[in-house]
Amino acid sequence: MTSFELVEPRSLEETFALLDRDDPAVRPIAGGTALMLMMKSGLFSPLRLISLRRVEPRLAGIAFADGSVRIGAMTTFAALEHSPEIRRHLPVVTRTMRTLANPRVRNVATVGGNLAHADTHLDLPLVWIALGAQAVVVSPRGERIVAVEDLYRGYYETVLHHDELIAALHVPLRPTWRSVYVKVTTRTAHDWPALGIAVSLARDGSIIRDARIAVGAATKKATRLIQAETVLRGAAIDAAAVDDALLARAGDAAIGEISIEADSRGSASYKQHLLRVYLGRAVRAAAAAEPGA
Ligand SMILES: Cc1cc2nc3c(=O)[nH]c(=O)nc-3n(C[C@H](O)[C@H](O)[C@H](O)COP(=O)(O)OP(=O)(O)OC[C@H]3O[C@@H](n4cnc5c(N)ncnc54)[C@H](O)[C@@H]3O)c2cc1C
Repeated sequence: MTSFELVEPRSLEETFALLDRDDPAVRPIAGGTALMLMMKSGLFSPLRLISLRRVEPRLAGIAFADGSVRIGAMTTFAALEHSPEIRRHLPVVTRTMRTLANPRVRNVATVGGNLAHADTHLDLPLVWIALGAQAVVVSPRGERIVAVEDLYRGYYETVLHHDELIAALHVPLRPTWRSVYVKVTTRTAHDWPALGIAVSLARDGSIIRDARIAVGAATKKATRLIQAETVLRGAAIDAAAVDDALLARAGDAAIGEISIEADSRGSASYKQHLLRVYLGRAVRAAAAAEPGA
């Protein structure tokens, strides 16, 4: 590993002065769990790392107000996992945390670092997309809001400029929606997924009023399945047995709207099969879940 500078600014203003819009070798570091692996494997050689650890309090904390929750970018996975309010209002997040990494990683990895890393195999971005979350992005030019589904350009690529930071995530609270995340691993339960899929549904009795679906690990980036959502929207269902034909149409739509990528966890055709099967299972589970799940 080549030598680099590590700085620990105390304010956002100081942080902006240290970032460089034109130089990708100057980077923020949060928990360091992804960045250190990239550095050790020679994929990334920084000139300067800017630790966000002391840039408090704007980047930290979980706060509920006006029908949404603001999760600071420096919130650790462990804080998210153990928050009683998150468990009450966004139980799908608490459930997902249990499938993710291990306690040592969860103690330091952060919500902002996870979003910005842009690895399609990560679990939480899919859940945030299904929940309709938005990233609050700050820079010397001010603040902009980016829906999580619009944050990604490609594998390890976001729409963020090098002098922009994710300050927080805004997640709307939708007590009548029902959400499910399914992580499909082909080796151990804690392995990287061959497919990740998150589904959020709003039902009016036996009608699906609205749907949001996100897929990852089989695509270059975390991707919202707009066409599959359209198939589901307005469909009549029986929660106990969602119609096979409806799920087949949603599966066809999903496969038609994305490019499925092979990796070491499976070929493209295998992942296509996984998508059909697990989209159906996730929709069935969400339809049968309690409101607010
Ligand atoms: C052993 C192991 C197992 C894992 N298992 C899983 C798993 O099962 N599921 C899963 O989803 N993930 C898993 N992870 C990945 C983990 O989720 C990521 O490493 C982590 O989310 C990155 O967060 P971090 O705070 O450590 O980011 P860092 O490593 O500090 O940074 C990652 C990237 O984000 C940028 N960045 C950091 N913070 C910000 C910010 N606020 N604004 C803009 N850019 C920022 C950095 O410059 C860097 O490019 C695992 C990691 C390890 C090491």
